[in-house]
Amino acid sequence: MPAGERFPTEVNQLNALPDAKKNFPRLGGVPSQVLQQAIKQLHRAWEGFQKIGHGFPRFKKFGQFKSLLFPQFKQSPIVGTSLLLPKLGLVKVNLHRPIPDGFVVKQVRIIKKADRWYASISLQYDVKVSEPIPHGHPIGVDIGLEKFLATSDGVLVKPPKFFKSLQSELKLLQRRLSRKQKRSKNYEKARIKVASLHHTIDNTRKDFHFKQAHALCDNADMVFMEDLDYTVMAKGMFGKHILDAGFGAFRTIVKYVCWKRDKFFSEVNARGTSQECPECGATVKKDLSVRVHSCPECGFVCDRDVASGLIIRNRGIALISTDGQSGIQKVCADGYAYVGETQSRSKSKTRKGKTRKTKG
Ligand SMILES: [Zn+2]
Repeated sequence: MPAGERFPTEVNQLNALPDAKKNFPRLGGVPSQVLQQAIKQLHRAWEGFQKIGHGFPRFKKFGQFKSLLFPQFKQSPIVGTSLLLPKLGLVKVNLHRPIPDGFVVKQVRIIKKADRWYASISLQYDVKVSEPIPHGHPIGVDIGLEKFLATSDGVLVKPPKFFKSLQSELKLLQRRLSRKQKRSKNYEKARIKVASLHHTIDNTRKDFHFKQAHALCDNADMVFMEDLDYTVMAKGMFGKHILDAGFGAFRTIVKYVCWKRDKFFSEVNARGTSQECPECGATVKKDLSVRVHSCPECGFVCDRDVASGLIIRNRGIALISTDGQSGIQKVCADGYAYVGETQSRSKSKTRKGKTRKTKG
């Protein structure tokens, strides 16, 4: 492309596709809508770079483009337990559940992960799902490295060490990979082993997160978490462990599970949650090595992470009572009638007592 020429627009490139197919016959082997999606993807990345300030779109070399999007279908591509895809024909799939009546298959994305292929099917159905409204028993959830999570009810979950236990195995495989001749058959075999292990770690982590999220929903009607930006934390000293635990991903999953199970979810201000007394509101300074919260003002003693959970819960309750969120009327009817009136921290004890009574 000459230096002075303007960057081609999406339409330019889409129109250039038929000619490109003549010059590069291999393109003809790919369904045309899938090719168009690749161009759209490039321009989305380009606009993200120019308008939103994302990074410069990265060039994808061979093997880095891992998915194909089939954007529309005239009729449902699901035939029995196979997918009917243009130019690929019938592909046998492990169909996890039948498509429910009335749902229309909008698009199918084929994704390669490690040594296997996945099909992600998007469905469309006209339905209005109401957002969960605040009601019932609230919990505050504090997540950290010492304990994976601590709730205001005193539930403690130890951190999973998938990455740590699988790390030595990963290290070994990566060392083997680094000693192989690039682009050789043995290199490819070793690469797949590394990718498979990463895939296993991802799946184990996700499974753990979903189980924890459901366990939280089993015991609560409202879940509050901190609004921390974990990507910033991951740049710090414990970066690897924070990424290993996948805090950000966990919060997203909790949010989703809450929505699905009609439990209210909200994030609260994270500032100083570990330095405050949940009983009297006094500031109790403690560094990471101090694991017990012991208040010199009111004598309240508990696990430091549970104390953080209590603070998060209290902030959450204060938030829904001041936010003017829809559904607050129902909360009041459920027994939080005075939550909106009492904002002082000294009243938090009575508030807690009331909460306990409404449980169940
Ligand atoms: Zn105190």
